[in-house]
Amino acid sequence: MRKHVLVIVLVASLLQFASCSDDHDPKPTVARGAGRVKIVYDDAGIKPENRDVVKQIRDSGVFDRLADRATKTLALPHDLVVKVSDNVPFDDPSTDVEGRTIFWPAGWLNTARMLLAEFVPEVIRDKGVPKAIGAQNFTPDTLNIWANQFILGHELGHALIHQLTIPMTGMEEDSADGFATFFTIIDKETGPNAALGAAVLFDAFAAKKPNVTMEDFSSDHPVVQQRIFNFLSAVVGSDPQKLENSLVTDGYVPKTRAPLSRKEWTQLNYGWWKALEPHIADTYKKEGDAARAQARKDLDEENAVLPGKIKELRRQQSSQ
Ligand SMILES: [Zn+2]
Repeated sequence: MRKHVLVIVLVASLLQFASCSDDHDPKPTVARGAGRVKIVYDDAGIKPENRDVVKQIRDSGVFDRLADRATKTLALPHDLVVKVSDNVPFDDPSTDVEGRTIFWPAGWLNTARMLLAEFVPEVIRDKGVPKAIGAQNFTPDTLNIWANQFILGHELGHALIHQLTIPMTGMEEDSADGFATFFTIIDKETGPNAALGAAVLFDAFAAKKPNVTMEDFSSDHPVVQQRIFNFLSAVVGSDPQKLENSLVTDGYVPKTRAPLSRKEWTQLNYGWWKALEPHIADTYKKEGDAARAQARKDLDEENAVLPGKIKELRRQQSSQ
């Protein structure tokens, strides 16, 4: 009788395999290609009042650098164009569902810069310059460049999720933030700057709209205030020795969240390298394999010490 059941189960699973072999195919189902990520500045479509801020972004090189790194790292099936223009469908950056075009309103760069110009002096007056950023960089211009670098990372995340059909295990908006955090932090040249800039810009948004509404809670994006803590927590986790000292000690990342920061970063870093593994360019395979192996090692090491951290956190919470 038992044997009989086993045979039926086996046949059933074979049938299932035959009927949806696509799901069981270990080979990537997305074509590999030589698609390029290109930034296109539509000079004729940029309003005169937005030209200065577009020039700042352009001269900083952060957009081109992000685009070039994505082109170099990935075997994209299609080109991806980032169109910087005022002749775009929405007021804020957006990505088409095929993941082939990112629309970047020039006016958005100006709105963000103006908001920071108002917010930065208020922060300096009320709390002082955050140590993790430093006075030299805590300016509306620099923070706007950093924040928009991060936001381009977020839109690039959406584009890759769609163009490469990246499997999702959570909300797409969270994953796009995760990609932005991952892909900007692993750039040794800029490190956590982009995520720090985004945290300040989002804090400026939150200061303008302190009351969280039902619309905010029901959005497919986490509420702005939560996104700020997510960015900062991952930043701390990416380099605890350097950043815990400023971001946690200065109260930007609460002591109740900080013990999870390293776990969050190592999961994100390994998760994205693993999700992108079938799409890594042939010429980047060696670096990609090494980065993924290192990310896995970091994650395993963190998993080994995590139970102790959680136990200590629970002990502190229960003694309060
Ligand atoms: Zn988004």
